[in-house]
Amino acid sequence: MIQTAQDMKTYKDRIKAALGNQFLRKALDNFASAYKVSRAKAFEGIDLDALKDQIAEGKDQALTQLESLFQQFKAGAEAAGAIVHLAATAQDANEIIAKIGRDNGVKTIVKSKSMTAEETHLNDHLETEGFKVTETDLGEWIIQLRHEGPSHMVMPAIHLSRRQVGTLFSDVTKTPVDLEDIDRMVKVARKELRPAFLAADMGISGANLAIAETGTLGIISNEGNARLTTTLPRVHVALVGLDKLVPDLSAALRIIKVLPKNATGQALTSYVTWITGAVECAASATGKKILHIVFLDNGRLDLARDPVFSEALRCIRCGACSNVCPVYGKVGGHTLGHVYIGAIGLILTYFYHGKDNARAIVRNCLNCQACKSVCPVNIDLPYLIKKVYANILKDEGAKPAKNTVLSAVMKNRRLFHTLLKLASTLQKPLVQKEAGVLRHLPFIFGKAHDFRTLPALAEKPFRDQWPKIRPRIINPAYRVVLFGGCVVDFVSPEQAISLVHLLSSHNVQMEYPMGQSCCGLPAMMMAEEETAMEVAVQNLEALEPERYDYILVLCASCGSHLKEGYSRLLAKKPEMAGKLRILHDKLIDFSSFMVNILKVTPEDFLQNQARVAYHSPCHLCRGLGVTREPRELLKTTGLDYAPCKDEDVCCGFGGSYSLEFPEISSEILRQKLDHVENTGADILVTDCPGCVLQLRGGMDKRNSRIQVRHIAEVVAANLKNP
Ligand code: SF4
Ligand code: SF4
Repeated sequence: MIQTAQDMKTYKDRIKAALGNQFLRKALDNFASAYKVSRAKAFEGIDLDALKDQIAEGKDQALTQLESLFQQFKAGAEAAGAIVHLAATAQDANEIIAKIGRDNGVKTIVKSKSMTAEETHLNDHLETEGFKVTETDLGEWIIQLRHEGPSHMVMPAIHLSRRQVGTLFSDVTKTPVDLEDIDRMVKVARKELRPAFLAADMGISGANLAIAETGTLGIISNEGNARLTTTLPRVHVALVGLDKLVPDLSAALRIIKVLPKNATGQALTSYVTWITGAVECAASATGKKILHIVFLDNGRLDLARDPVFSEALRCIRCGACSNVCPVYGKVGGHTLGHVYIGAIGLILTYFYHGKDNARAIVRNCLNCQACKSVCPVNIDLPYLIKKVYANILKDEGAKPAKNTVLSAVMKNRRLFHTLLKLASTLQKPLVQKEAGVLRHLPFIFGKAHDFRTLPALAEKPFRDQWPKIRPRIINPAYRVVLFGGCVVDFVSPEQAISLVHLLSSHNVQMEYPMGQSCCGLPAMMMAEEETAMEVAVQNLEALEPERYDYILVLCASCGSHLKEGYSRLLAKKPEMAGKLRILHDKLIDFSSFMVNILKVTPEDFLQNQARVAYHSPCHLCRGLGVTREPRELLKTTGLDYAPCKDEDVCCGFGGSYSLEFPEISSEILRQKLDHVENTGADILVTDCPGCVLQLRGGMDKRNSRIQVRHIAEVVAANLKNP
């Protein structure tokens, strides 16, 4: 049985152990790099966004009629000779399958890969009932021999090296196996598994698709084992989640079009098997296959009716949300999941395996949006992860003290800002003045936080400087309002001052309303939705978006939260709908404003050709969908832009994430900084003050010569006529 950490202390120990596994990280890293390239190639020439929308819409439609689709499937499949069951719970499904085995005199079972069977812990149940079960997917067989669960939904043994597998096979076969010869190992597996297929009384499979119109199962696989499992033995049992029901073949084919491409970057899988009813079977006394199809509810019908979480049931189990997750890449699926792995695992664990198994793992999300961007059915995974965390806090009725404090402070802007100013005064003995960083970390931080220097709070926040520096432009070309966010305002006011210079030199009037506060994203990250909503209302009222041509942000995270997060948070506040729509339409990031609105040209800048690398913040490239403009702006400014590996991979900051999981944050940062140093750049540029904080702190800690700057600073520094 899989053991998942149920408290943070145990979870931290697991994380430490996972981070100590060098092979795991290398294997996941190599796979992630290769996956990106092959996925992009596989989707070449396909309008992926349109296809995603179509599939998501089709799945949502099917989810509203699961019961009738089930009845339709049952009628079709039974007319063709199958027997169809509906199991309300995992235990029911296991008992139904065991009974089928007993009723048919089954002793030995072969099984092909099925996440649904992992969900019900079917093997454990059948073995307790006295059946001999052999997994026949190579990866599943390996983890069965090791008594482990899968560490990836598509590649269950990705955490193991060939040497580990070779040693295992040597032990199992009692014959030495060459630890480097993968072909030989595959042959060993084939030799061991063939007799199991031939002797098996029953085959158990899952199914990727269940077509209601015809009562047909669709199984997609890369190994021939699924076909052998479903054809050779006289009894076949398919265990299928109700969420696999689709109305017709067209809907099924759309899913097949994306599944292998998104899962592993393959254009096609090796096998697509369609099964309609009981076919001829030489091993059966009647000459006909005994086919049972067991549909599993296990909470799916309730989930399908949930207005927030139903979209989780769109999942087609491609595993891509693990492939791109920076946290998964560092700790692997045994640490970032229970039975289901990765981003979707953090959500489904709560519904299928309970809050105790979800409690710790659900907090391990950076909110980097990588999973959401790669999901072929548009599930808003980071949002649902936060909602699961909120549900767990609610279920347990006890919030961490930091949540209570944060909520009280954030709701009261004046108190919040007074405390920040007080902290700025109190920090003075700790500040290294020339560098603007803290010499010593405050005692609340442990050794694990020592991977970056922390910036000091500004002596004078931007809001206190603003009345003196506010420019007055006669006949401005545009009137814009800056939403600063906490880091710009209280830590890095120089970024906003650079913006003031740039805008003034381009005849733009900027305003900075004092009523604005934190955007509220930290509250969302801590699942304090009510606080986040109150803060959103305060900011919308303070910004008065209707008075300006644009609402400018220097912080990609604030911008993405203002644009997308506020729409969700304020959906039930019709009185805010007008302001919200205007905010949504007028909000723009710094680089897009410079490139698309001001249309700056090389003549505006010095063209000093300093070599710069670029880090693309998660909430800019994925949250706001801005990718071209910052790079174009750097070139226009006359800087020598040096592309860097994995520019769009998270820096590991994630706001409070880097405080809660410094062990993982530091590893993600280390890799990012290595890539940047490999470019030979003198300056690292990015468009998010949070990323600046993380990247600069990391560079500082490794005594690197590379300076880290917000893009507004480097662009302003290159102005010809400041
Ligand atoms: S948001 Fe990022 S860190 Fe969180 S689960 Fe998705 S990919 Fe992983
Ligand atoms: S949530 Fe999306 S990306 Fe993750 S496994 Fe499911 S379909 Fe694939």
